[in-house]
Amino acid sequence: MISIQGLYKQFGKLEVLKGIDLEVAKGNVVVIIGPSGSGKTTMLRCLNVLETPTKGVISIEGNTLDFSRTVPKKNIASFRRLTGMVFQSYNLFPHKTAIENVMEGPIIVKRENKDFARKKAQTLLEKVGLGDKIDFYPAQLSGGQQQRVGIARALAMEPKVMLFDEPTSALDPELVGEVLKVMKDLANEGMTMIVVTHEMRFAREAADEVIFMDQGVVVERNKPEEIFTNPKEERTKKFLNMIQ
Ligand code: ADP
Repeated sequence: MISIQGLYKQFGKLEVLKGIDLEVAKGNVVVIIGPSGSGKTTMLRCLNVLETPTKGVISIEGNTLDFSRTVPKKNIASFRRLTGMVFQSYNLFPHKTAIENVMEGPIIVKRENKDFARKKAQTLLEKVGLGDKIDFYPAQLSGGQQQRVGIARALAMEPKVMLFDEPTSALDPELVGEVLKVMKDLANEGMTMIVVTHEMRFAREAADEVIFMDQGVVVERNKPEEIFTNPKEERTKKFLNMIQ
């Protein structure tokens, strides 16, 4: 469903992605792990075209962008709508309530009718366990609640794929579980997901496949039980020894 071929990204002279190839099947959950600075976030941002790759081809459900040529802006806009992104720092609009945050994209970008968008937002906020907080502003919500609004907001755009960029890294430890639970529920419903995270338990329990990245390349990919108990590559072993 998702295919990345020969993806390169350079910031000035710094080559951050050095030829990433990756396929993800529909309904699968792929967790990306690796040392800080290895290019995990940059790869996700390239998939959402928040960063423009230097080179490479990315495809989602038959929609393809080839960055060896100039890609028209309108192609980027429609491609971006295939993915929903959840950020480490939530990025909610502070002056909008939870439900207004969730309705904003569908009304502005998808031109959905306001009543329809509101109903959908209400259902999504109930789904992430915030049915009683729909009129709260971000500042009145805990980090875990804000992040769940962030997930509902991404889902409201009805993406084909959900991208999570360290969604629990900014949270106090006691709030991590509620966000991971929402993510696990989504995975169980068959959502295709790519998740950058340091939560190895989530990787073990929810991932179909774990990808280990280092220095801009995919070093190893395997089923979680394999990669955690029997890593093949020296670099993977070293990283797992460091964090476990
Ligand atoms: P990871 O998510 O694995 O920690 P990142 O993708 O965030 O890694 O970063 C990889 C490298 O790219 C880092 O050296 C980082 O400083 C650099 N980098 C990321 N974004 C930018 C940017 N916008 N401009 C310049 N360098 C960047």
